[in-house]
Amino acid sequence: MIERTLVLVKPDGVYRALIGKSIAAFEDAGLKVIGIKMVKPDRSIVDKHYVADEEYLKSIGAKTINSYKKRGIEVKDTELQIGQRIRGYLFDYLTNKPVVAMVVEGNEAVANVKKITGATSPTDADRSSIRGMYSSDSYDLADAKKRAIKNMLHVSGDKADAAREVPLWFKESELVEYKRSDESMLYD
Ligand code: ADP
Ligand code: MG
Repeated sequence: MIERTLVLVKPDGVYRALIGKSIAAFEDAGLKVIGIKMVKPDRSIVDKHYVADEEYLKSIGAKTINSYKKRGIEVKDTELQIGQRIRGYLFDYLTNKPVVAMVVEGNEAVANVKKITGATSPTDADRSSIRGMYSSDSYDLADAKKRAIKNMLHVSGDKADAAREVPLWFKESELVEYKRSDESMLYD
């Protein structure tokens, strides 16, 4: 059913002039942009966006360990230590840099936007996803360079994240209701 989800074109996407291609990928899939703005996020919004929640930080660490394991590389740090370190990198990545924030609406928008975006590490991402098509970054390279993986986009991870993230970046008055010309095919 109809859902709303948050998309951020991260600074690397903006610097590489890939804003248009990112939006087009969602629009081409029948999803509708109902709010959009360019911002330089301050530290406090990044702090609220990437919550310091232990479970979330452990999930970042677990995905990282898993990716290394698949390639036979052993990781000494705990999930939490990795998550905490990456949260630090995320402040450097997003704070005071140009970001395009969008709310995307449509059928199963959260899952569809996630699928179109692809896996966290572009090297692992499906070749037809945005991250897979436009980036070749990876866990090892990001870790070696002590920075966040430059994967161009943030998209809400699940419905609960979307419900928290949309109002963090947008006031309800900044969201615009309108009908796309092709909507009747899906929704009438
Ligand atoms: P996603 O953005 O795919 O939902 P996560 O929520 O797990 O991924 O992580 C948030 C962001 O942190 C990622 O998009 C990426 O930029 C960065 N990141 C995650 N894991 C690592 C890592 N091992 N090394 C560097 N950066 C990472
Ligand atoms: Mg996430």
